[in-house]
Amino acid sequence: MKTLDLIIPCYNEEAVLPLFYEAVRKTLAALPDCRATLLFVDDGSTDGTLQVLKAFAARDGAVRYLSFSRNFGKEAAMLAGLRASGGDLVAIMDADLQHSPALLLPMLQAIEEGYDVAAAKRTDRTGETRLKSRLSDAFYHAANKITQVEIDPGAQDFRLMTRPVVNAVLSLCEHRRFTKGIFSFVGFRTKWIAHENTVRAAGETKWNYRKLWAYAVDGVLGYSDLPLKLPFYAGAFLLCAAVVYAVVLLIVRLCGAVPSAVHAVLVVLLLLGGAVLCALGVLGAYLARVYCEVKNRPDYIIRETNVPPQRGR
Ligand code: UDP
Ligand code: MG
Repeated sequence: MKTLDLIIPCYNEEAVLPLFYEAVRKTLAALPDCRATLLFVDDGSTDGTLQVLKAFAARDGAVRYLSFSRNFGKEAAMLAGLRASGGDLVAIMDADLQHSPALLLPMLQAIEEGYDVAAAKRTDRTGETRLKSRLSDAFYHAANKITQVEIDPGAQDFRLMTRPVVNAVLSLCEHRRFTKGIFSFVGFRTKWIAHENTVRAAGETKWNYRKLWAYAVDGVLGYSDLPLKLPFYAGAFLLCAAVVYAVVLLIVRLCGAVPSAVHAVLVVLLLLGGAVLCALGVLGAYLARVYCEVKNRPDYIIRETNVPPQRGR
């Protein structure tokens, strides 16, 4: 019999947790050959979330909870859940029933078929404002152009993973985590399962535009060194502009006209500005390497092998 850990990050979810618990218990009762543990991570809630979780744990031996000392964010909650999990299979899902527990059935089926990951992909934008959808689309479009990972705009954090995938995710020990990027980075065979967006069953979203902006910045800076190298390209452009400007002035001078001294000053400014930006870009290129080394991401992730561990890999 397989063991399954469900990780549920919760931040001020007292209103929805009883509904979630009922729904998830109903689904789990129908899951064949699976012993499930519900691992709730209370992300420093200020409402009665922890009391609700304690009440669940008192009557259900399969309920575990971790409670943070303050709100550290969903990324930290997911990480704590993954670290605390020990099951053969691990799923992450939101507490607000926007991630329908019923999807666990096709997800388990996908794992039976030989996939390492079964992940939900939303097919619509129900429950989201038009502005949020537009900004989200623009972010993923830009991020996929400039970062080294490919993130599907419909991809959600709701997914079921096998133990090797969880171990691979945990092998990335960086602190500013952007889990969607990490999932893409580690690879593995993923089956995408279409999922209709629904509105929250109760309670309110914990995301505002400020938090979403910080999340987007983490996503780009964690997977792209382009912002560090940009000054070099800007500097090279200014240097080229300075050279063209100087050549034009020279031609004007050779034709007999005397260009104003302002033009010469502008050429010098362009040259200086370009040189400084190029130097910054070179520093940025070194800094990008240091950043890459500090993150210490694995150079590769082995999906399977028959080489014994003592042979070194
Ligand atoms: N969440 C969390 N910490 C936070 C914000 C959110 O653990 O700081 C949890 C929240 O309780 C929920 C999930 O992350 O289970 C998704 O949050 P939410 O529904 O507010 O996000 P949305 O679905 O609106 O993007
Ligand atoms: Mg939600």
